[in-house]
Amino acid sequence: DIEALDKAAQAHHAIPQDLLRTDAVLTHEVFNKYHSETEMLRYIHRLEAKDLALNYAMISLGSCTMKLNATAEMIPVTWPEFGKLHPFAPLAQAKGYQLLLADLENWLVKVTGYDAVCMQPNSGAQGEYAGLLAIKKYHESRGEGHRDICLIPASAHGTNPASAQMAGLKVIVTACDKSGNVDLDDLRAKAAEAGDQLSCLMVTYPSTHGVYEETIKEVCDIVHQHGGQVYLDGANMNAQVGLTAPGFIGADVSHLNLHKTFAIPHGGGGPGMGPIGVKKHLAPFVAGHAVVKTDKESRDNGAVSAAPFGSASILPISWMYIAMLGDEGLKRSTQVAILNANYLAKKLGDSFPVLYSGRNGRVAHECILDIRPLKEASGISEMDVAKRLMDYGFHAPTMSFPVAGTLMVEPTESESKRELDRFVEAMTSIRAEIAKVQEGQWSLADNPLVHAPHTQDDVMDAEWSRGYSRAEAVFPSDAVRAAKLWPSVNRIDDVYGDRNLFCACIPTEDYAK
Ligand SMILES: *Cc1c(COP(=O)(O)O)cnc(C)c1O
Repeated sequence: DIEALDKAAQAHHAIPQDLLRTDAVLTHEVFNKYHSETEMLRYIHRLEAKDLALNYAMISLGSCTMKLNATAEMIPVTWPEFGKLHPFAPLAQAKGYQLLLADLENWLVKVTGYDAVCMQPNSGAQGEYAGLLAIKKYHESRGEGHRDICLIPASAHGTNPASAQMAGLKVIVTACDKSGNVDLDDLRAKAAEAGDQLSCLMVTYPSTHGVYEETIKEVCDIVHQHGGQVYLDGANMNAQVGLTAPGFIGADVSHLNLHKTFAIPHGGGGPGMGPIGVKKHLAPFVAGHAVVKTDKESRDNGAVSAAPFGSASILPISWMYIAMLGDEGLKRSTQVAILNANYLAKKLGDSFPVLYSGRNGRVAHECILDIRPLKEASGISEMDVAKRLMDYGFHAPTMSFPVAGTLMVEPTESESKRELDRFVEAMTSIRAEIAKVQEGQWSLADNPLVHAPHTQDDVMDAEWSRGYSRAEAVFPSDAVRAAKLWPSVNRIDDVYGDRNLFCACIPTEDYAK
């Protein structure tokens, strides 16, 4: 009797009455203003229009792989069959998801050259943590639980040392040579010094310097010789898929950022997926789940995330991406991503020197533009270039990572030559603006670079006493004039808040009252 059940359910309060909230919620005006669909639609569109997203221009954030999130990939996420299933639904009621997970596991095994994939971690960083825990358990299973040193080259992503620390490992940083590659002599020395304390190495390939390290196999061998495991950070898989693979290279475990290489949209803190691939010997040690148990060897291991299959509801995106591209398409994506990065490196190299390249003068899927020499010569910084790009309608590339004073550009395979050329034109024009400062045509204190970005308020102000024109400020190119995205605020002091913490704590007496 549904009605009786309903009544019983209504009468039953799982949350104790005295814990129920009685004050008003969501009282801010914004939650109480838009009461029709049209109004809501317009409000959301106004917010969207302030945001520079991929539907406006390329976002060349190096290391972030901001590629097309194709509509056909995105649509299945909206289907209730995927979106409305509870993460703890009994396995018997989630057969479709199991098929999807099995397909993805099989495909990712093939892509990575590993033997198994664990679909639990929600992000790259969580994948790192999960992978390091698997390494730890593996060492323990062999009576070598004392191994607790993690070697990390200086070029690594910040999440690597952070994850190692979370996993209770001691981080020892190894040097890079002047071309940005892992310094093999230093690695050998530090691996030997760690000896039977060596747990693992965390290395990124191609390196975060945007170069295929030619010694990567040797790097893996050195670590293995000392009984360590190799964690290969797979965030740069967009430069590997179909061409090579971490398992083939000789690593033992990697995470994949499905929200980078495999087309899940990211940025702005949305859900991610960072599954890890492992070699056979690590498979029994990956995360399991106490509630939803699989039939895998690892079923009784602890979990690394609340839900058994992470952010499972976004997996249809990666499934579609792989299914639609197929083997050939995946490989072609990688090839075009590399081609695009090298096109930009070549076209921009004259204006802004490319910091690192391989033996043949080429980069991988991203490149680092060095702004430091220009800053020295002109006083214009990487920050000014990044802010000025907003006036040109572009999102800035990754700034001061992994090298301070640089911009790291990653176009991905999704950008056409036309869009790449538009970006080149903007950057070249910015270089010409810097030249005007260098030549004294504009003073260092008053030029469109240091005042960037410019807002509508700036140029509509009756007072305009700057050393450059309003048009130079907001319409620096024809492309911008044709389709302008107006920055809504001027520059803020980026690190002020980070460096000047203040306590907004309510005094304890107030709680007592
Ligand atoms: C993005 C990235 C990570 C971290 O991934 P998240 O999903 O942001 O946690 C780790 N390493 C590298 C090289 C990355 O680019």
